[in-house]
Amino acid sequence: MEFRLSDEERAFQEAARRFGDRVLRTHERQIDAEGTIPAEVLAAMAELGLLAMTVPEAYGGMGASAVLTELAAEEVGRGDFSMATAVFFLLEAGWGHILARHGTEATKQEVLPAVTAGKAFLGVATTEPTGGSDLAAMRTAVRRDGTQFVLRGEKAFVSGVEEARRLGGGHLTLAKADGGGFDLLYVPTRAEGIATQRFENMGRMGISTGALTYADAKVPERYLLGEERRGFDYAMEGFTVARTFVSAACVGAAERALETGIAYIRERQAFGQPLGKFEAIQFELVDLYTQVEAVKWQVRRAAWLLDQYPLKGDRSHRSEVDLAVASVKLTAPQIAFECVKRVMMWFGAAGYTKDAGLELGLRGIMSYLVGAEGGLNIMRIILGRELLGKEFVPYR
Ligand SMILES: Cc1cc2nc3c(=O)[nH]c(=O)nc-3n(C[C@H](O)[C@H](O)[C@H](O)COP(=O)(O)OP(=O)(O)OC[C@H]3O[C@@H](n4cnc5c(N)ncnc54)[C@H](O)[C@@H]3O)c2cc1C
Repeated sequence: MEFRLSDEERAFQEAARRFGDRVLRTHERQIDAEGTIPAEVLAAMAELGLLAMTVPEAYGGMGASAVLTELAAEEVGRGDFSMATAVFFLLEAGWGHILARHGTEATKQEVLPAVTAGKAFLGVATTEPTGGSDLAAMRTAVRRDGTQFVLRGEKAFVSGVEEARRLGGGHLTLAKADGGGFDLLYVPTRAEGIATQRFENMGRMGISTGALTYADAKVPERYLLGEERRGFDYAMEGFTVARTFVSAACVGAAERALETGIAYIRERQAFGQPLGKFEAIQFELVDLYTQVEAVKWQVRRAAWLLDQYPLKGDRSHRSEVDLAVASVKLTAPQIAFECVKRVMMWFGAAGYTKDAGLELGLRGIMSYLVGAEGGLNIMRIILGRELLGKEFVPYR
């Protein structure tokens, strides 16, 4: 067993932290206020290799391991506390990997170099207005028409709809296939027959969330991922990867909250001494710290497991991987939220102001509690299925 990072991993982690401190922290208020990540921030991310970093070098990426990507996700979550940049980062790292693994050569050549350069956005579209947890019940339909596919239906709460329209790019889109099964297709947002609408969210304002409507939108067959009717499996593979990076971003945000809290309770005086001298506050800090440390190493182990199996296309350890990933997606957002909430309370009234900067994190992390990349109960269902068997938990 080896817990030490390699020299390469340590150096990249340090570079990502410097980037987080110098670029993301200084822009996070602007990102939140303007509802977009500035072009110069995306350009700096591209330069450091942070965009779709799992994508092989042949398509402009770093071919980064899941462990290296996990380390970077921690730093992005720590740097932009609103979580908007983390979402941009992890969608492209997770779904870029899926496109690189299952996309046709022509699609990879067309899409991935632009994504890794920050000149196009890549996301995922599975959720519909009628629900996101029960994916098998989706209504968006796709049918083959000669050498193209025709898409009809609506997706909702999809991240990056506006970015994909503005920058170019699109979403890996899951749809019910004519004749059974599901297809996963890369669907460029600017294609004819596609309309977008931005929703007004409460947090992570720097990346849009909205609806995509397909009115018999035509998609060339080269945009199909893998084999026809096997799209559900590819989508689940993508969620496994993306959920690990979501959890990593939550670890970074939790650490940022605790660092902010520690600095505050060392200084803030009450009853003639710093808050940090009160055992009630110290014990709360210690309890939060131990939870963050525990989940951090669980997340890193989940990333290590991805490197051993799914990232190489090996499904033989699926149960072990599913247990590890669903565990961290269940706990990391809750721990991060609790850290921010507690630190806000140490700040007292000041914590409730925008000046303290803590509400940014609270609003962003909340997106992972309500459902982004899968609701908490869905993680519980996956864990229950793995622990008890499908006869107890008959969900796919
Ligand atoms: C900010 C944000 C960004 C998002 N980005 C994307 C994106 O890029 N692409 C995309 O496709 N989707 C995206 N989503 C949608 C996300 O995937 C869904 O929110 C999620 O899958 C849950 O679906 P739902 O919101 O329709 O909730 P529902 O499926 O209606 O579920 C509602 C609640 O009930 C719980 N629940 C559901 N089934 C059960 C059950 N069997 N037992 C117990 N509890 C249950 C859920 O956990 C949830 O808490 C995003 C969501 C948010 C908030």
